[in-house]
Amino acid sequence: MGRFDGPVRTRHWEGVTAKATIWHATVLTLFPEIFPGPLGLSLAGRALASGLWALEARDIRDSATDRHRSVDDTPAGGGPGMVLRADVLAAAIDAAEIDPSRPRLLMSPRGRPLTQARIVELAEGPGPLIVCGRFEGVDQRVIDARTLEEISIGDYVLSGGEIAALALIDACVRLLPGVMGKQESGADESFSDNLLEYPQYTRPQLFEGRPIPDILTSGDHARVAAWRRAEAEALTKARRPDLWQARQKAPKSTTGP
Ligand code: SAH
Repeated sequence: MGRFDGPVRTRHWEGVTAKATIWHATVLTLFPEIFPGPLGLSLAGRALASGLWALEARDIRDSATDRHRSVDDTPAGGGPGMVLRADVLAAAIDAAEIDPSRPRLLMSPRGRPLTQARIVELAEGPGPLIVCGRFEGVDQRVIDARTLEEISIGDYVLSGGEIAALALIDACVRLLPGVMGKQESGADESFSDNLLEYPQYTRPQLFEGRPIPDILTSGDHARVAAWRRAEAEALTKARRPDLWQARQKAPKSTTGP
């Protein structure tokens, strides 16, 4: 099986090692058919089809060893649900033969909250291995033994790590060179410099009695920049005092929005 390059329902596809230089994500999941999903469409999908990045979704169940191909068992100490077995998951990780330079992530509500800064780091690297949990989660010993970095996409609980992995990969892929139309469009959007983005407008000039703010159609680039910066700051102060505080502590650039 080759690298994914079309809307096929392949359970897993290989060959990315031949193109080790392109950014690639290796996903370990019980539901490989979820991938590429939305990543096969729009900007990410076009970039995937043209080989700007690669995706490999590997079925954890392929590493099950017993007759029933079981991947989970009841929690030690009791309690509801099932836990992904350490031996099966470790075998799946080992079978993926990940280069040691690649980050090994576990999507997990207990993880460090994902930030745009971490996304930038991940996008600049070779691309991660991403383990998707299911059920009640994953046996702690495989997290420790394979030094998985737990990453959360927010303070809520999903039923599996796949949607979290899609979110993480999507955020990385749009930063890869050549994926977004204009390279700069990543530079002054939300979270760069701990600021939320200013409000955007486009035609028509008048919508239900609401005009586009005059400054934006004035052609005065300096005033536009100042207005956008003030709006971004006001929004950030009002909605995200946590970001605003971080920004006061670490004033990074003077060229933000
Ligand atoms: N019992 C666990 C939740 C398991 S949810 C707990 O209370 O911590 C099942 C799987 O969904 C997890 O193993 C993880 O891979 C994924 N998941 C759920 N919520 C997530 C979140 N906010 N961020 C990232 N992954 C999440």
